Amino acid sequence: MILNGKETAIKLNHELQLKIQQDMQQFRPPHLAIILVGSHPASLSYIKGKLKAAESVGIKATLHHFGDDVSTLMIYDKIQELNQDEQVDGMILQLPLPKHLDEAYLTQAIDVTKDADGFHVLNQGLLYQGKSSVKPATPYGMTLLLNAYNIDVLGKHAVIVGRSNIVGFPIARLLMDLGATITVCHSKTKDLSYHTKQADILVVSVGKPHLIDKNMIKKDAIILDVGINKVDGKLVGDVNFNDVVDHVSAITPVPGGVGPMTIHALLLNTYHLYEKHVKIKTK
Ligand code: NDP
Repeated sequence: MILNGKETAIKLNHELQLKIQQDMQQFRPPHLAIILVGSHPASLSYIKGKLKAAESVGIKATLHHFGDDVSTLMIYDKIQELNQDEQVDGMILQLPLPKHLDEAYLTQAIDVTKDADGFHVLNQGLLYQGKSSVKPATPYGMTLLLNAYNIDVLGKHAVIVGRSNIVGFPIARLLMDLGATITVCHSKTKDLSYHTKQADILVVSVGKPHLIDKNMIKKDAIILDVGINKVDGKLVGDVNFNDVVDHVSAITPVPGGVGPMTIHALLLNTYHLYEKHVKIKTK
C-alpha cells in the first residue's frame, strides 16, 4: 500500500477549508505569517507550497522575505512586530537560516501562542509531557497520515532513524503516546540494520539518499520516509523506494508522502492557534 500523502492532504485540507468557511461567517480569516531569509531554491519551493496550500483552505498567508545580508536583530524586530499584531495567528521562520543568523535565538523569539511550527521550547516541553497543543508539523503530519489509513500503532515496534528536534525526537514521543515501543537510532548507532530490521514501523529522517534498502527492513514493515534529497535533478527519499516497495506493507513515496502532510499539519496548527485567538476572545 502506498501511503499517498498528497491525496490525503488534499482531502484533509478540504475538510479544514469547510471549517474555516463556517468560522468566517462570524470571525476574520486565520492568518499565517511566514518569514523567509535568502533565496535558497529548496526553501523557495517549500514556501511556495505553503502559501498555495494556505490560500486554498482560506488561511491568509503573508510572506516577509529578507535578503541574505539581514541581521539577527532585524529578523528579531520583525518577529516582535508580528508577535504584537493581533491579526496574526501563526508564524513560521523558514529554516535553515544563513549561518550568520542566530537560529536558536530567533525560533525562541516567536510568541508561544503563535508558534505554528511547534519549535518553541515551551511547546516542545509540553509535547514531552504529553500535553501539547501545537505539535511539530512533520511528526504531526505523519501521525495524521497513519490515522487516515487506519494504521494502528498500538503495541508495534517503531524504529526511528534520526534524532533531530524537528522530526526524529518528536515523532518518537508521538508514536510512544500512541502505544508504540520505540527505538531511536542516529549517526553513532552501531549496526543500524540490526535495529531497522526489528521495525514494524520504520521512520527515516536522515537526509542521505537511499540509506535504507531491502536488506535493512523486516518483511511487511510500514515505512515513513521523511528524507528529501536531490539526486540527478530528481527528488528521492532516504529509503530506496523501488528496492523495498514489494517487501513492505505500506510506504510513503518521495515526493508526495510526508511532505504534503507536513504542510497540512502546519495549516492545522495555524487553525488551532486561530481558534484560541479569535474564539476565546469572543467568549
Ligand atoms: P537533521 O539533518 O537535523 O539530522 C539528521 C539525523 O540523522 C541526525 O540525528 C543524525 O545523527 C542522523 N544520521 C546521520 N547520518 C546517519 C546515519 N548514517 N545513520 C543513522 N543516522 C544518521 O535531520 P532532519 O530530521 O531535520 O532532516 C532529515 C531529512 O528530512 C532531510 O533530508 C530533510 O530535508 C528532510 N525533511 C523533510 C521534511 C518533510 O516535510 N518531508 C521536514 C523536515 C526534514 P546525529 O544526531 O548523531 O548527528
